Amino acid sequence: MLQPRSAYLHIPFCHRRCFYCDFAVVPLGDHADGASSGSIAAYLELIETEIERSPGGPPLSTVYLGGGTPSLLTPAQVGRLLTALAMRFRIAPGAEISLELDPASFDQGRLAGYLAAGINRVSLGGQSFDDAVLARLGRRHRRQDLLEAAGWLRQAQAMGELGSWSLDLIQGLPEQGLEHWRAQLEQALAEAPPHLSIYDLIVEPGTVFERLQARGQLPLPDPDQSADLMELSAERLRAAGYGHYEISNYALPGHASRHNRVYWSGAGWWGFGLGATSAPYGRRLARPRTRAAYAAWLGSSRRRRSPRSS
Ligand code: SF4
Repeated sequence: MLQPRSAYLHIPFCHRRCFYCDFAVVPLGDHADGASSGSIAAYLELIETEIERSPGGPPLSTVYLGGGTPSLLTPAQVGRLLTALAMRFRIAPGAEISLELDPASFDQGRLAGYLAAGINRVSLGGQSFDDAVLARLGRRHRRQDLLEAAGWLRQAQAMGELGSWSLDLIQGLPEQGLEHWRAQLEQALAEAPPHLSIYDLIVEPGTVFERLQARGQLPLPDPDQSADLMELSAERLRAAGYGHYEISNYALPGHASRHNRVYWSGAGWWGFGLGATSAPYGRRLARPRTRAAYAAWLGSSRRRRSPRSS
C-alpha cells in the first residue's frame, strides 16, 4: 500500500458564516485575528497535539492549510504549524505548501510573512467580482478587496516569491445568466491566475440559502442553465490555455495542484483538525466538527496512536 506523503490541516475560524456554507467553521466576528484571539490560540494547541500524537511517516511532499479562513492566523502561527509537521514527518525538499486566503483578511505584509514561513502556493477565495453577488452570498470582502489581493499574488509570483496561486469562483448563483458568468470569467482571466477552481453552487442543508430556497426566494439557474455555465467555463478556459485536469480545476501548464491530485490518486493523506478527514493506508477517519467534541475526541485518544494503529 502506498505511504501517504500529504497532510491537510483544517483551520475552522472565519469572520462570519457565508449564507451558502456548511463547512465545519467557527465564526469569530468581523475583527477577529490570530494575534489576539484566545480561541485560535487554544485551537492551535489542540491541532499541534494531534500532529505530535500521529504515528508519523515519510516526509511530506504536499501540505494544505484550508478552512475556514486560514489567513486569520498570523504568519508566526502558520510557521508554528509547519514546524510541528516538520518535527513529526519532515517536509520533503520542493514540497508544495498551500494556504487558503480570503480577500480582506490579509495585506501585502502578511502575505510576505506567510511566504517567509514556507508557504509557496495560495488559493484565493474570490467567488465573484460582483459586489451585489458577494453581498447576496454573505461574503465579507468586496470586488476591490479581491482585485487588490490578486494583484499582490501576481506580483509575488512575478518576483519568484510565490510558486503558484489559484482563484476560486462560484458559478450557478441566484439569477445568474450566461452573460453575467461570461463577464466573471473575463475578469478572472484578466487577473492572470495560473490556476482556477470553479465551483457550482450547491444548496446545503442548514444554510441560509436552504431557508431562502424553501421560501421561494432563491432563484437559481435550472439544471440546463447550470450545464450551459459549466460548458462556457470549460470552453473559455481551454481557449485561454488552461488544462481542465479535474472536474472543478483548471491550470496553466505546470500549475496543477499536486495536493488536489492526491485525493484522487489512492495514495492517501493525513488530516488534522476539527472536521478534517484523513485517509492514510486506506483507512478513512472523519473528526468531530465542533471544538468541544474535537477536544474531547483528542482527550479520549490520548493513549493511542491514531489513526494508523487504531
Ligand atoms: S469564508 Fe469560506 S469557510 Fe468561511 S464561512 Fe465563508 S465559505 Fe465558509
